[in-house]
Amino acid sequence: MASGEWIGCFCLSEPNAGSDAGSLTTFAEDKGDHWEINGVKNWITNGKEAGVCIVFAKTKKTPDYKGISCFIVETTNPGFSIIKEEDKLGIRGSSTCQLAFDKVKVPKDALLGDLEKGFRVAMATLDGGRIGIASQALGIAQGAFDYAIRYTKERVQFGAPLSNLQGIQFMLADMSTKIGASRLLIYHASHLKDAEQPYSKESAQAKLFASEAAMWITTKAIQLCGGNGYTKEYPVERMFRDAKITEIYEGTSEVQRMVIAAAELKAIH
Ligand SMILES: Cc1cc2nc3c(=O)[nH]c(=O)nc-3n(C[C@H](O)[C@H](O)[C@H](O)COP(=O)(O)OP(=O)(O)OC[C@H]3O[C@@H](n4cnc5c(N)ncnc54)[C@H](O)[C@@H]3O)c2cc1C
Repeated sequence: MASGEWIGCFCLSEPNAGSDAGSLTTFAEDKGDHWEINGVKNWITNGKEAGVCIVFAKTKKTPDYKGISCFIVETTNPGFSIIKEEDKLGIRGSSTCQLAFDKVKVPKDALLGDLEKGFRVAMATLDGGRIGIASQALGIAQGAFDYAIRYTKERVQFGAPLSNLQGIQFMLADMSTKIGASRLLIYHASHLKDAEQPYSKESAQAKLFASEAAMWITTKAIQLCGGNGYTKEYPVERMFRDAKITEIYEGTSEVQRMVIAAAELKAIH
């Protein structure tokens, strides 16, 4: 996968298990010499291109996360199929699919990590992934900001470039400040991860702040470009649509707030 020969996908979400991922119902049954996996996964990024899936499935029927195990499943396995590809608002260059696992047989050593400790694998992946989504949000925000700066310096109204107006400059200053704060939160979480320190709260903070900043900044970038910004001819329209997903996947903004509040409530007695 690191060499680019294989594309992977991460299969946690299901039709009835989104923010409450622990309630998933995909089941992997121990058949003696192999596992048999049955279930449906929703919203899977790269579902169409992937050669291998990381699949979270229960190996014990529990109402919560405790019976979840994690499996490596190749998409050439009989029983694997793509039910549908989503038609999305943004990130249209990336496939998002609903996948079916119908009596998919995998060998015993397809189990990743310990039996019934799969939720830990999922949460650890998301802690790291959230730094990635925060960085995606930062990149979108920086791109929209750079475009808006250039546009306001070129566009002349009332006899001078828009960028000469203090009302416009104040908007640019707020955009710049939110970008700077996002960048530092991302660097802080990344530094803790590199240093092998706990970083779950910090990655949630980086994702929460950077994604909401990206949504705000791309909205302002359209505003600064006026009618042009609202058209598909100008890139800020796409950036605005792409920014929205960063507030939703790898845990919504509400889920990030739950993670942050839980960490603070645990830390301070
Ligand atoms: C484009 C795209 C790509 C994705 N890629 C993947 C992927 O590769 N792998 C994967 O496993 N999943 C993936 N997802 C799924 C994504 O992680 C979920 O959509 C997300 O976690 C939210 O789940 P849900 O859509 O079921 O919303 P729900 O959980 O139904 O939430 C709906 C709303 O209710 C709010 N809410 C829910 N619970 C609470 C609460 N306790 N307190 C306050 N508010 C709450 C949510 O924040 C949200 O605003 C992807 C989704 C999209 C759209």
